[in-house]
Amino acid sequence: MPKLVLAAPLAGWVAPLDEVPDDVFAKRIIGDGVAIDPIGSTLFAPCDGTVVAMAAHAVTLRADGGGEFLMHLGIDSVALAGEGFVSHVRQGQTVRVGDELISFNLEFLASRVKSLLSPIVVTNGNAFRIVPPRCGRSVTVGDPILEVIPCVQIPEKSDFGQTTVSREIVCMLPNGLHARPAARLASVAKACQSRICLTVRGRKADATSVAAQMALGLAFRDRVLISADGPDAEKALSAVVAVLASDDGETMAPVPPVEVAAAVPGVIGTTVRGTVAVPGLVIGKTRIWRFTAYDVPTDGLGIEAETRALKTALDKAKRQLRRSTANAKSEAGILAAHEALLDDPDLMRRAAVEIAAGRSAGYAWRVAVRTAAEDMRSLENVRLRSRADDFADLEGQVLSQLTNAVPATASLSPGTILLAETLYPSHLAALDSKKIAGIVMAGGGPTSHVALLAAAMNVPMLTGVGKVLAAVPEGAVVVLDAEVGTLDFAPSPERLAAVRMAMTAVADTPSATAAVACRTADGVRIEVFANLGGGANEAAAAVKAGAEGCGLLRSEFLFLDRANPPDEDEQYAHYQAAVDVFADRPVILRTFDIGADKPAPYLPQLAEENPALGMRGIRLALHHKDMLRTQIRAAMRVRPAGRLKLMLPMVSDISELLAVRDLMMQVGTELSVAPLPFGIMIETPAAAIMADKLAALADFLSIGTNDLTQYTLAMDRIHPELAVHADGLHPAILRLIAKTVSGAKAIPVGVCGALAADPLAAAILIGLGVRELSVPVAVLTGLKNKISTLTLSDCRVLAEAALSCATSGEVRALASAVKDGKA
Ligand code: PEP
Ligand code: MG
Repeated sequence: MPKLVLAAPLAGWVAPLDEVPDDVFAKRIIGDGVAIDPIGSTLFAPCDGTVVAMAAHAVTLRADGGGEFLMHLGIDSVALAGEGFVSHVRQGQTVRVGDELISFNLEFLASRVKSLLSPIVVTNGNAFRIVPPRCGRSVTVGDPILEVIPCVQIPEKSDFGQTTVSREIVCMLPNGLHARPAARLASVAKACQSRICLTVRGRKADATSVAAQMALGLAFRDRVLISADGPDAEKALSAVVAVLASDDGETMAPVPPVEVAAAVPGVIGTTVRGTVAVPGLVIGKTRIWRFTAYDVPTDGLGIEAETRALKTALDKAKRQLRRSTANAKSEAGILAAHEALLDDPDLMRRAAVEIAAGRSAGYAWRVAVRTAAEDMRSLENVRLRSRADDFADLEGQVLSQLTNAVPATASLSPGTILLAETLYPSHLAALDSKKIAGIVMAGGGPTSHVALLAAAMNVPMLTGVGKVLAAVPEGAVVVLDAEVGTLDFAPSPERLAAVRMAMTAVADTPSATAAVACRTADGVRIEVFANLGGGANEAAAAVKAGAEGCGLLRSEFLFLDRANPPDEDEQYAHYQAAVDVFADRPVILRTFDIGADKPAPYLPQLAEENPALGMRGIRLALHHKDMLRTQIRAAMRVRPAGRLKLMLPMVSDISELLAVRDLMMQVGTELSVAPLPFGIMIETPAAAIMADKLAALADFLSIGTNDLTQYTLAMDRIHPELAVHADGLHPAILRLIAKTVSGAKAIPVGVCGALAADPLAAAILIGLGVRELSVPVAVLTGLKNKISTLTLSDCRVLAEAALSCATSGEVRALASAVKDGKA
């Protein structure tokens, strides 16, 4: 981008900004530039561009090259409320250099304003900088007045004779450059004397601005160019690299362990459904969280008054945040990042531009944070996109101080289930977490900061329930099942009793059913297994709750959030411990399912347009065959032989399992052991349709309904809006399950996706021929109890009817209508 030379928009005397009798301009709070003491009575366009903001006495123009310029006629001219000014353009209009923008009555203006000095400043100074202007001269309209250089074109030696250094690195922050690391990076940058810029995909941000950094959308493994310009450029560059090239003490946000519940929109009976953000099963009493809307005037009372008001409100909001940080130690970083945003130069500049254009402090703050939030919402990365809520939270925090409105809070009774349209981190941090049993939100997603905060507080949470949340009454005793993704707001006494029992079973001693092998009422054996991702303690809790084996050991959790993959011995110890805990019961080890939303820092992952359709699961494992070989070696050393089974994720082609079988044969020969029992996850429509061919080469099949649903319905399972529509009880999924079972013939078929834990699904799955259900530990006991009330013949009738339904809504209505306890 070439440099831009602005033409003088006014005839008059050129003065430095320091002479303008208003700190907002003199201290360059809005941006750097120059002032003109006018002698004419028309303001002209200084370049070609678009009018982006218009007030009677001021106009902001975006030049075609991207620079934004505020031209402000006189100081305190806002008080004239437009008197003496005539606008010739409107917001959104494109103009050419020399076009008339505003005519004004110079004499009238001179008699009424504090000063005629009219600043011309660059408002997006993080992307552009100005060459120090030549002052103390007179200009006529059209004379060159200001030279503006895009930051991209910073020369190797700056104009000030200091060094510019730059380096391109790969971002290793597991969750990308979101608010917390951005705040840390901004404080590093502020401590340096050099000016530091980050460039990502051609977009540039000042490193001292948290908001500008967040708007870059810098994700894990993205490339970023860092440049530092100033006396300590080398040191500054190294300090910034140190933040971006490390994991900065973070681990990947907890998307992977969440079994995104299959769900349909709307209320079905007395149940609403959502996306699991923090798993758990609880009973509680609902309390509606009412969000405070703040009214702010559009017009301000002058630059000084509004700037002062905004500063006071920001200071108060910071003090409030510090108090909350003291209460929410575990996630103090989120609140500290919010505090840094309250000081952010980018937000300050945007707000100052609005105030300078005559707006009130509240209006200006709202525009500043909403613009920043919009920038975030336009990002591709889901994790970073979901952080737009941070700005909405900040809007309320400052507006509550400005308007003196009481911020939304509530004194809660123990066991409260909060129902909220939207809940922000500051709200949750201000509440007594010990009294919150659960949270259900109409909006949001599992990767938002408020969900992370809830997870840190160990509060079960559902998000993305939608408008139907309004159907849930206040004060109702409800069951929040954040294992399968439901809120039952009028549970029957039997349901409450069953849930209490399930809760006790997890927390307490094993129930009578835990030790008993699960059978239907007519004696058909159904194995109820546990899904596990952790170590021996989790496995022990599963056995205590009645798990008859482990149907899905998500081995990838051992591989994520670390600098190197686990070696053979570490893996062996991990798998052996699980097998030891399960005594004589089977443990199904899934080979590492890395990729898509579960990246491992040490595996170079190409930037993929559609990661869920890219290098993940078995595809990635075969791409890193040495790592897969190590895992298979570790698994084959486990004793007694045959108790640990191997299962492959994301299979879509027979060649994949042939390749793994070959590898297992080679390792078997090396170790002189027999091959492990070998299973395949049915997670793609291709695998379900080809189940007969796959089953001929396998010992068992296990249906991963989370992915099978995502790929069949073409709905991203972590998409904050779509996830709730991805219902595993969709007839298309049921037909694929039926196809899998019939293709498998004598080979056993299980289900280990979230559908297995859906209270309405068990009877249908059993009716379709599934004989093993693997579920989260919290629902094990309830599921075993439920199965013991079913008969195979009833299940078959129900499954047959479900297969001929047209929608998942119909399937759910059908399953709900079946008499409680009988299929
Ligand atoms: C599934 O896809 O249903 C499954 C069990 O695997 P994961 O949820 O770990 O992708
Ligand atoms: Mg899966």
